[in-house]
Amino acid sequence: MNEFNLPYHLMVEEGIFYRIPEAMSDVDPSLSEKKMILVTEENLKSLFAPYIEGIQKSFPNSEVYLMKDSSFDEATDLAKYMAMHDISLVIGLGGGSVLDLAKFAAFVGKQQYICLPTTLSNDSLASPVAVLGTENKARKSFHCEIPDAIFVDVNVIKSAPKRQLLAGIGDTISKYTALNDWKLSWIRGKSKGDDFAYMLSKMALNSIIYNDLKDLSSEDFIKRLTQALVMGGLAMEIAGSSRPSSGSEHLFCHALEENFSEVTTVPHGISVAIGSYGACKFQNRNLSKITKVIKDYEIPVKPSDWKIDEKTFIGAWQSAAATRADRYTILNETDLSDERLRDLYYEMEEVFS
Ligand SMILES: [Zn+2]
Repeated sequence: MNEFNLPYHLMVEEGIFYRIPEAMSDVDPSLSEKKMILVTEENLKSLFAPYIEGIQKSFPNSEVYLMKDSSFDEATDLAKYMAMHDISLVIGLGGGSVLDLAKFAAFVGKQQYICLPTTLSNDSLASPVAVLGTENKARKSFHCEIPDAIFVDVNVIKSAPKRQLLAGIGDTISKYTALNDWKLSWIRGKSKGDDFAYMLSKMALNSIIYNDLKDLSSEDFIKRLTQALVMGGLAMEIAGSSRPSSGSEHLFCHALEENFSEVTTVPHGISVAIGSYGACKFQNRNLSKITKVIKDYEIPVKPSDWKIDEKTFIGAWQSAAATRADRYTILNETDLSDERLRDLYYEMEEVFS
């Protein structure tokens, strides 16, 4: 039997950022008396000034910490600082890199951690993984714990650029190929399976694929996407690995980040959605489902729109498996010749033009 943790609270409401101690009173009635550090970043400090002031009012014993580079060293330095100053609660307010820094520092320092995402662009808000900078600026995934509570303020998410929501949808629909890769590796005896985590991740995927709420700024849609991203995070926690959410399409994304960062920078959720189309083809599956959902939501996956030229596209796929060599996926069984990948590139250019 696996051991895992689940968050005490997941609330998606308007104005919830101002009511955190109240919302957590059943779990921790003395929350507001705790010494708290709010982790955020410079540009968000001014952008979300009223929210930060509001949160600080709820926690009179608090200070604000501004992220520098979201590196492993920064996270451990922050954990040390919190231990030296008897800080027992960490609140992360921001996007992926802020949340990963806060989550990992709280994990190292064993503090309570409350996650306040300002965007829904990927599943890092609820995953047991933190991606942090290491030496040579390479980013690496570290295992940690999921948050004690996640509060999503609908007003904050509404004010974020639409492209961030599209990235969050992209990260969710990439489970279509991630789950297939996981199943393949577990059939081949290359990784451990977990039926419950598989089911949970599939529910997250289906809640977005079979969704008639297309108004991305509505509270209902924001709730649904939050739930999908959180379910994806919990599936990883239950499986004890990121396999329910990450397959060959994520390897493609890692290859772009690690080997072609001078050519292109693609948001994580968009990059994995681009990867999912190719992965789906390699998996020999029906492309119409994934094509329809990408088109319905208008997720921008045309490679050239992101300055991904033919050479970069081919190079990224050919170097994808090597980014995480221990991860068995369809790429281990696929012919990735220049010719085949060139055809795939121009097919995507045409289908998504
Ligand atoms: Zn992802």
